[in-house]
Amino acid sequence: MANPLYDTLFGQHQGKNTTFLQMADGSVVTHSDFLQLASQYANLFTQLGLQPGDRLAAQIVKSPQALAVYAACVQAGIVFLPLNTAYTAAEVAYFLENSGARLMLSDGKASQALELVTSACGAILETMNADGSGSFAIQAETMPVGFQTVERSEDDLAAFLYTSGTTGRSKGAMLTQGNLLSNCQALASEWRFTAEDSLLHALPIFHTHGLFVATNISLLAGGKILFLPKFDLDVMLDLMPQATTMMGVPTFYTRLLDDNRFTREAAQHMRLFVSGSAPLLAETHIQFEERTGHRILERYGMTETNMNTSNPYDGERRAGTVGFPLPGIEIKITDSNTGETLPQGDIGEIEVRGPNVFKGYWQMPEKTAEELRENGFFITGDLGQIDEDGYLHIVGRNKDLIISGGYNIYPKEIELLLDEETGVLESAVIGVPHPDFGETVVGVLVAEGQGDLDLDAIKKNIGGSLARFKHPQKLVVLPELPRNTMGKVQKKELREQYKDLFM
Ligand code: ATP
Ligand code: MG
Repeated sequence: MANPLYDTLFGQHQGKNTTFLQMADGSVVTHSDFLQLASQYANLFTQLGLQPGDRLAAQIVKSPQALAVYAACVQAGIVFLPLNTAYTAAEVAYFLENSGARLMLSDGKASQALELVTSACGAILETMNADGSGSFAIQAETMPVGFQTVERSEDDLAAFLYTSGTTGRSKGAMLTQGNLLSNCQALASEWRFTAEDSLLHALPIFHTHGLFVATNISLLAGGKILFLPKFDLDVMLDLMPQATTMMGVPTFYTRLLDDNRFTREAAQHMRLFVSGSAPLLAETHIQFEERTGHRILERYGMTETNMNTSNPYDGERRAGTVGFPLPGIEIKITDSNTGETLPQGDIGEIEVRGPNVFKGYWQMPEKTAEELRENGFFITGDLGQIDEDGYLHIVGRNKDLIISGGYNIYPKEIELLLDEETGVLESAVIGVPHPDFGETVVGVLVAEGQGDLDLDAIKKNIGGSLARFKHPQKLVVLPELPRNTMGKVQKKELREQYKDLFM
């Protein structure tokens, strides 16, 4: 094939008047219209001097046009680099410098602040606004429809996706055509996607979840996407009767459950709800089933690998686990120090190998060598355990592990107990510096509703189930946990906030 990713996801729909995107107002973009627009964009890239292998950075609002930029990059062999719309110009500077992007697409509102940054990096700056207008669109209008797809192989780079920066500075993961293609093929088949599906899509498209999981699967299967700019409860409830599937982060599910319009009837037309990007509380899973009769399917992945494991479509979807390795993907649990595989049931580093695993971090050879073994296994930085039935449980991130007085403490174990306590909505357990123990345990709690928490009683209750060295030295209450757009708790921020508690 000339360009495996383009041909398989996009090219197959050439000339089809089937609906690809349906917007909240009911307007639609057909597969054919979408591909024509993408071909005009690809022609414009060439006119602007971009060559296959060049990088294009896009910090643009979610829209059909924004998605067409992705398609155009694949068609023209340009490496697509989507950026979180929340990043400031100073933050964008890092991504531009790091990636050496030739072209930057930004929202008109941000372009002034970005001009200095792009000119310092020698990148071209064009605008694309939320409604698809802007300097890029104006030039694209005059471009011919139809573009000679650039030849690529599965080993060629398709995207640089930067990690969320939860544990440190964002890293640019180099993803090949083969990485993306193999993963959406595995997922579409595991989750039974077909051209009959309508996917409720309220995720951002700058992250692997909304872009490569949700969008690529729909393109591959040929179904429709109900394409929403963001999560809006009213719109979600409005459109759900037209949808068959939804993908979301855990907060989507808790927000749906918080609304009593979300009933069994509201979810009646759906066949599948998928959750990922952050841990889904077992309690949410259970409540969701009680309310709707559906068991949420939780899966596990990351920027560097796309998806690694999934609960089964048929068979038991086990709450609090992320299921089994996807076909063609290997998972092992290893000792963080020696790299040796641990006996079944032990907690250790989750390592993954397969066609989904990235090529390395762009311009970070040392970081790549630290995390990507020569035998192809990627050390994910997550800690996990495989139960006797083969389900993977994620215990937390290696960097969140607390070492107190020489003992390892896994925050999740304490969080699960805290979450059970009366009046506690959710919790985050962190390690903070301590003069005697090196680090000690602090529990950050969020109360249900407006309620007060009896911290002494909570401390006493959970103390009964935990070895003494794991007891939180202090419990604190916050109105909410700091989270990023993907619903990930920002423990780094909490550690910073409470770093002086004992010093
Ligand atoms: P950085 O690597 O820059 O610190 P990040 O790891 O948060 O940021 P992403 O690649 O967006 O960036 O997120 C992947 C991480 O999200 C995984 O390593 C894992 O910790 C977490 N994650 C994803 N899905 C799940 C899940 N179902 N349950 C628990 N954690 C999950
Ligand atoms: Mg990561």
